[in-house]
Formats: sequence, C-alpha cells, structure tokens
Amino acid sequence: MLLFLSTKERLPQAKELLTELGLKHSVYPYENGSVLEISTETSIFSPQKIVEKLSFLGIVKITSHTPILDSLPENYSVELPAKAFGKLEFRKNPETPIWIAGPCALDTPENLRQTAKALAQAGVKLLRGGALKPRTSPHDFQGVGRDGYRWLADIAHEYGMAAISEALSEEDVEEAFEHLDIVQVGARNMQNFALLRLLGQGNKPILLKRAPGATLKEWAAAAEYILAGGNKKVILCERGVRGLEEELRYTLDFAGAAWMQLRYHLPVVIDPSHATGSKPLLQACTAGANAMGFAGVMLECHPRPVESKSDSLQALRLEECCELIKACS
Ligand code: PEP
Ligand code: MN
Repeated sequence: MLLFLSTKERLPQAKELLTELGLKHSVYPYENGSVLEISTETSIFSPQKIVEKLSFLGIVKITSHTPILDSLPENYSVELPAKAFGKLEFRKNPETPIWIAGPCALDTPENLRQTAKALAQAGVKLLRGGALKPRTSPHDFQGVGRDGYRWLADIAHEYGMAAISEALSEEDVEEAFEHLDIVQVGARNMQNFALLRLLGQGNKPILLKRAPGATLKEWAAAAEYILAGGNKKVILCERGVRGLEEELRYTLDFAGAAWMQLRYHLPVVIDPSHATGSKPLLQACTAGANAMGFAGVMLECHPRPVESKSDSLQALRLEECCELIKACS
C-alpha cells in the first residue's frame, strides 16, 4: 500500500500513526513531499480499514496480490442453499460449529449408511468421504472412483445432511459440481492453479485445505484464485502444517487459522484428525476450535476403524465420534 503526502510537514504525524497501528513502512522522497510504502501483510486490519484510517493524511493507494479477498466484509459468511438438510451457514464465531464427519475414504454404501445414520443423530450437518484419495504411495488404496460422489450425496441427503468430497484434478470437477454440496481441495492440491481456476468458475462452495508447507500468504493467494474466477464461496480448512514435531502427524496451527479468519473474514474449519493423527487429542483440539470461534470442525470416523482403507489409526469409532461431538456442542 502506498501513502502519498504532498508536503513533508505531515510526515512525523504519518509515521507516528503507522507505528501506532503496527504497520511496517519505508519512506521515499516524492515530488515536494514523500511516499510511504506500507506493508499490510502483517496487519490484522484489512487494506480497506487501513485506507479509512489513513486517508485524512493524503492519497492512499492499495497494492495487493489478493484484492478480492481483501474486499470481503467483516461479517462474511458462506451459505449452502436450503435443501433437505436446511440452511447451512459457515461463519466465524458461530453459536455451534458446523460438524463435518465421515470416513477418510469411502468404501461401501452399507458402511456409509451406518455412519450417516449415527452422525445425523449427533447433529452432524455435513457427511464427508473421499471418493478419490491422494495417497503418498501409488500402491495404496486410491479410492472407489468418481461414482462415489453420487452415492455419498444420495446417502447424505437421505439422512438430511450435505455431502463433501475431494476433487483431485480438473477431470473430476464436472461430476463433483453435479453431485456434491461442497467440493474439497486437498492439502496436496492447494496450489494446483488449474484446478483452483476451474473451481472458481462454478458456484458450489469450495473447502480449501492448507498445504502442510504453505505460509498464510500462499494459502490466501490460493483462495484468491477461486475468488478471482467469480466463485466467492470459499471456506478454509486448517489441517496441520509440517513443523519440528515428530510425535504428532502435523502441527495444528490454531493461531495461523485464527489469523486467516480475523484478517480475511473467510470462515475456517479445523481438521484435528489429519493435523494430529492422534485419537486422544481430538477432544481437546475440537474444544479449542470451538472456543476460538472457528466456523466448523472436521473429524474422521468409521464403523470399524481397523477396516478403513486409509487413515485407520486416526479414525474414531462412530460412538466415539458422536460422544465427542455431543460433549463439544
Ligand atoms: C482428506 O480430508 O480426505 C484428506 C486427504 O486430507 P488432507 O488433504 O488434509 O491430507
Ligand atoms: Mn484421511
């Protein structure tokens, strides 16, 4: 962001105010006055807010990599159209978070039906299940295929829930849009720009997971790809980043996720299952997510975790998952 001051007289006042607002800045001479280059990236205020606070001093020009993201209002929310599952609204500081739960990978419609029945009774609003699985090894289970989108959605709707699953590549988008209520972009695809662009052309909500090695700025820029295509329905999901820790699967970056929600106003869902990979930690992390005002929580569960085709160690039994949700609702 640039602040043009037509005379040098107001420079001390401008510098004092910028320091007070915690904004890093550099000063350069400009015609008879000065120009201040202001770094807004580390500010909790949106560029619009900063413009409001500074414009009495001179001309303020926004220079941003994420202009659409920067222009979202403070009370921004992402709504799913009212269907069999009723209206669903993702927003910060909800009374109760939106619960997203289900298996890591879809396996059989019978298992999913059993899962849906239990979760619906516990107040889960969104049924998850990977039809296509991004696996580290090509020899691991790769998913049931795109046909899974259809039966996931059918079963979810049968039990009054919305359906969410991942699109792995551009080839999946058409069918994902046709069947799913929310399309997930997995952590490994956060910077698959061709996929993000295509998802930006639709109007279904997109849950954008953070890549384990992505900075907050890179995550925000990935969201901007979807917004720039015209699709404003972006929900972020923090699923842990690669840190120093070896005891846990990843490091759950609560502060980073809170920053994204405060700074950009996009709703953020916390996924403690993938972040920790540890069942005993799920309750504490879920309670923490609720206390911090996140829009939703995503949990993995399976009727018989030992039989689940992927992430069996972190999958809760259905009763465990329902108990956890009840305890934290
Ligand atoms: C998932 O949620 O199914 C998944 C694969 O998670 P992530 O992309 O966060 O690893
Ligand atoms: Mn998983």
